[in-house]
Amino acid sequence: MASRYESSETPELKPCRYCKTPIEKGSKRCPYCGILTPHSDVKTTLVWIGIVLFVVWVYSLFRY
Ligand SMILES: [Zn+2]
Repeated sequence: MASRYESSETPELKPCRYCKTPIEKGSKRCPYCGILTPHSDVKTTLVWIGIVLFVVWVYSLFRY
């Protein structure tokens, strides 16, 4: 996580989740394959769902 040299001249590129073509980070749509939210982080979403489920589980344990 050492991206301290970000500038508007060299936008950070990230591979599209569908066609793997490096495209500008934060793009709403991949210009190559046309998929929407090409950088939607499925892993992060799954981790958050896991955390929420864990919290709910722990909470239910301490309720009784
Ligand atoms: Zn793409």
